[in-house]
Amino acid sequence: MASVMVKDNPILLPLNMEKTVYDGFITVQEKDLRLRIHLPPDHQLKKAKLHCCWKLKHLLHGYEHIVKQRLHQSTDLVSFLLELKTVLYYSQLILEMETLGWDKLLFIDTQFQMLRMKAEDSSGRQHILTINLKSKHPAEAPECSADLPVPLLLKWTPQSSLNQLHSQFLLVIEALTEFWDVLDEIDTKTWILEPEKPSRSDTMRRIAIANNVSIKVEVDPRHPKMLPECCLLGAEHVVTPLRNKLNVNMHLWNPDSGVLQNLQDVLEIEFPSPATHEKSMFSVECGICYSYRLEAAIPDQMCNDPRCGQPFHQVCLYEWLRVLPASRQSFNTVFGECPYCSKPITVKMAAHKS
Ligand code: ZN
Ligand code: ZN
Repeated sequence: MASVMVKDNPILLPLNMEKTVYDGFITVQEKDLRLRIHLPPDHQLKKAKLHCCWKLKHLLHGYEHIVKQRLHQSTDLVSFLLELKTVLYYSQLILEMETLGWDKLLFIDTQFQMLRMKAEDSSGRQHILTINLKSKHPAEAPECSADLPVPLLLKWTPQSSLNQLHSQFLLVIEALTEFWDVLDEIDTKTWILEPEKPSRSDTMRRIAIANNVSIKVEVDPRHPKMLPECCLLGAEHVVTPLRNKLNVNMHLWNPDSGVLQNLQDVLEIEFPSPATHEKSMFSVECGICYSYRLEAAIPDQMCNDPRCGQPFHQVCLYEWLRVLPASRQSFNTVFGECPYCSKPITVKMAAHKS
């Protein structure tokens, strides 16, 4: 038992030959806490006395009575000290939570390993920081994650606190407010076809322009007001003039006004909005399988006849045309007839996903 005692608590040592007085430190979360334990001559813990330094007293505040009771009930000193260290570990975390403010805590698991904290940016959006404490906390940095369009990098040292993590997180989300402002404006004033439920980490939006016509924009989280990467989707006769306008008017892009306004100015259009249009007008179901999503793919092939414009999944259209006798195949392209209007239509074989 004596060897276990020394191994677990190398700086808590007996002061006399009889080993009835122990003095020294126990280490909890990199902090050394001084204590002295007096045992009666028969070494019975029932009558042991515990003296704590002020730091330890502070951590045990409100629990002194229970700690003394546990000392008196313990079978040996080693198991009592282990229990005391566990209690101190939690009480230190609780103190940290108190400094941070309990109102910021959304969730904590029963093992005290995983915490979720909330943070608000200057535009009033709520964000969640998830912290996974490692077994060697605080020596080992906790694992932090959040719904962000950029990797989350928070600095940690064994002296760091949860409060410091939270402050760093606030700076991270503050740097992204302009990005979220841009996307929030697009999300509220246009019809978004993709993603179905955008999250705070999504940088892409597919915005409806007209039936079967849309634009995919990829907003850079670090330069949200610059011209985003754009891709127009729809039948060629509608998309080509829009693409030309985009190329000709690109220089008109003004980073001082919003992305939505800029897109409208450059494309010379008004995006249909929830205030003026029903979303059902822009449903773009595949004309073959009648669904929107096929695994991850959405219908991105259109019949080029201006009166038809029916969208299809690439895979659906390829499989459909390939088996028809009227179709002709050359390398990876199939030439056939639109299943809706019978006008000529071509499709390339879908690229194989690796
Ligand atoms: Zn389909
Ligand atoms: Zn057609």
